[in-house]
Amino acid sequence: MTIFCIGRNYPEHAKELNNPVPAEPVVFCKPPASILRDNKPFYYPAFSNEIHYEVEILLKIAKPGKSIKLENAHEYMSQIGLGIDFTARDIQQRCKEKGLPWEIAKGWDQSAVIGEWIDVQQIIDLKSISFSLIKNKEIVQRGNSSEMIFSFSKIIVYLSQYFKISTGDIIFTGTPSGVGPVIIGDLLEGFIEDRRMFWTEVR
Ligand code: ZN
Repeated sequence: MTIFCIGRNYPEHAKELNNPVPAEPVVFCKPPASILRDNKPFYYPAFSNEIHYEVEILLKIAKPGKSIKLENAHEYMSQIGLGIDFTARDIQQRCKEKGLPWEIAKGWDQSAVIGEWIDVQQIIDLKSISFSLIKNKEIVQRGNSSEMIFSFSKIIVYLSQYFKISTGDIIFTGTPSGVGPVIIGDLLEGFIEDRRMFWTEVR
């Protein structure tokens, strides 16, 4: 199972980190050991002093595919979820300055919070899913899939040019603006509409 992640998929988030709005999706992956499920606590890693939350809509892949056409992309979507792409922003900044890959800033153990799933058939409009992240009872990030630069379908088309996608693969589809740091003791809760999809306590 592969975890694909899309960077800079919301214009306001690209701006807040002084990145250009991309012409093509920015892609990276997280290894399987990055998964943190079942509302387990998140343990602040020793190698960073600046861990940021990034709440993101997740897309689970329904069946294997390669070089998928835009008109068929919806057939490859099975479920929608919500998660956090935890990022060591200090390490990422160093990687960016040197033009290096981001894996040590993004792909470390337990950096991928994954919550509950909703079947795509139960979602009225995939192009208008509103979601939010609440930190210690205050809203810190709010987004809607309508704001995405690259839609779910376009992401599937793009990824499948390069990678064979498989049943159960998960795509982190990018974060809206409002990313910020966590400290030990914080409680993070993710919502799609009014439904709580995950929570995790920082320890
Ligand atoms: Zn992200």
